Amino acid sequence: MTQAAAWLGVPSGHLFGLSALPYGSYTAAHHAEEYRVGVAIGDRVLDLTSATDRLLAGRAHLFASGSLDEFLAAGERAWGQVRAELTRWLSQDQFRPALEDLLIPAAEVSLRLPFTVADYVDFYASVHHATNIGQIFRPGAEPLTPNWKHLPVGYHGRAGTVVVSGTAIRRPCGQSCPPGARQPSFGPSTRLDFEAELGFVVGAQSHLGDPVPVERFAEHVFGVCVVNDWSARDIQAFEYVPLGPFLGKSFATTISPWILPLAALEHARIRPPSRDAKLLEYLTETADWGLDIAFEVRLNGHLIARPPYASMFWSPAQMLAHMTVNGASTRSGDLFASGTVSGPESAERGSLIELAWNASNPVPLPDGSSRSWLEDGDELTITAVAPGPNGTRIGLGSATGCILPAVPDSAESRR
Ligand code: MN
Repeated sequence: MTQAAAWLGVPSGHLFGLSALPYGSYTAAHHAEEYRVGVAIGDRVLDLTSATDRLLAGRAHLFASGSLDEFLAAGERAWGQVRAELTRWLSQDQFRPALEDLLIPAAEVSLRLPFTVADYVDFYASVHHATNIGQIFRPGAEPLTPNWKHLPVGYHGRAGTVVVSGTAIRRPCGQSCPPGARQPSFGPSTRLDFEAELGFVVGAQSHLGDPVPVERFAEHVFGVCVVNDWSARDIQAFEYVPLGPFLGKSFATTISPWILPLAALEHARIRPPSRDAKLLEYLTETADWGLDIAFEVRLNGHLIARPPYASMFWSPAQMLAHMTVNGASTRSGDLFASGTVSGPESAERGSLIELAWNASNPVPLPDGSSRSWLEDGDELTITAVAPGPNGTRIGLGSATGCILPAVPDSAESRR
């Protein structure tokens, strides 16, 4: 295994070691707040916009804007070449003079939304999450809907409200109609929740009328990020019939600032449970695109769940194949998320509605309080880690958000 050059001082075991190399977009005071593309290495960020100017002029235009947009669109060969060059630069002493002044302490950069989000789709790929939600909402009935094991269920979300980690989340207002109420009422959501998910970032576009087969997944998808699909359960419950999630979801979706390339996940690939199911041909895979990624969810710093991505039923290759099987095209910058990651155990559930079982079993916190739903001022952080080469671990970074109170008079003024 290639190691980071000693002069970089990356501690062994660092989650942003040489086998990770995730990409982001940042500003720093000494760049006069201009956007740059950065690569995380240890506790520092390499200014890739300037590094390619110096060392890889033929690809420098891909990073000039300071966002990942052009690089994502450039496709597999460019992704592979830049990753190979980065690995060489950061493992060999000879590049120290060219790079040393381009490494900025991570604490000094301000991370931005790394790419322009084109379309956003959210799936529902965890059999444990879908079963839990079915049991909560339709007790006594078969928890999985008849379509669930035949296709990856999903919906189109709102790309324009995808925000980068650290962005404060304003509690949404909307209509809700609790069981037994005769009329809906309007006001701040009282059942605000999170959903821990994995996001897939499309790089190379596909064309209208051309489905992307499962085996071409890695040609189109550049990498992954952590996603929090914030959800207002009370708004969602009243509005979702018959067309699915709408305003209960669209107010905000948080992503981690670092996009980890698929190439870094080689050692995380596993056979997904859907391989044992009898599926239609376009969803039948021979490659393993299940991913052994371990999530952790912290509420105000306290670990409340450890959802295992390895238990997800549908693979992202199946999600992409299904999303395009009708001829719908994808664009560079499309984001599709996995759906809530929940494992079979109660401590592995990736949302509060499951952890507190629809408010019947509130989650205790060390300060003596408990939560069935998120409160104003709560900070929710989702992190994820994947296996790397030779027993190492690779970080995906984190998606964090703090809940702000609803806009003070919006509830009153619209009654
Ligand atoms: Mn979701």
